[in-house]
Amino acid sequence: MIIKNVNLETVCGITSVLPDNAHPEIAFSGKSNVGKSSLINALMNRKSYARISATPGKTQTINYYNINDELYLVDLPGYGYAKVSEKEKIKWGQLVERYLHSSRQLKAVFLLIDIRHEPSANDKMMYDWIVGQGYEPIIIATKLDKIKRSQLEKHIKMLRTGLKLLPGTKVIPFSSMTKQGRDEIWELVETEYIG
Ligand code: GDP
Repeated sequence: MIIKNVNLETVCGITSVLPDNAHPEIAFSGKSNVGKSSLINALMNRKSYARISATPGKTQTINYYNINDELYLVDLPGYGYAKVSEKEKIKWGQLVERYLHSSRQLKAVFLLIDIRHEPSANDKMMYDWIVGQGYEPIIIATKLDKIKRSQLEKHIKMLRTGLKLLPGTKVIPFSSMTKQGRDEIWELVETEYIG
């Protein structure tokens, strides 16, 4: 994908009416701090356009990035931040559920998981939830540069087992430091989900 222009076009909070966009949407979900903003910036070829939040878990909004007036990268609010109150967690759930239910342009959901660790209960819940909404999430295993190359297979296996991924689920290792995986993600989006 050649990025000609990017624009944070819409920011939706809990009470917002979600936009009925004219272009396909690709959504990104993951626990706070997993590297979601860094991934979205890498996909957009921007250093810090997507918020890299100083206070993780604080921004409970859905952000729509318009790419070339062709598609939207949709940044879903991160989950699993311990300091968020129960009330906030419920609001988060309602907002994300409303989005997954109602977006007519949503083509694919990417779920980001830190490649280093066993997926958490929240990761598993999110995976099952996305599947329950009728989507086949694509897993992005983030922070690839933090493990040794020789450990890759083991970590991918840990992730597949931990999340109980359905057979055939794609797992793409990614690093925002080296940008490894970036082209593969764009290629997948371009060939399978847009156009
Ligand atoms: P978000 O909360 O999911 O949006 O996560 P951020 O993109 O803000 O990243 C959280 C922290 O992880 C920041 O300190 C990033 O610099 C760091 N980070 C994100 N992606 C990578 C990566 O691929 N490799 C390494 N080494 N650090 C990363």
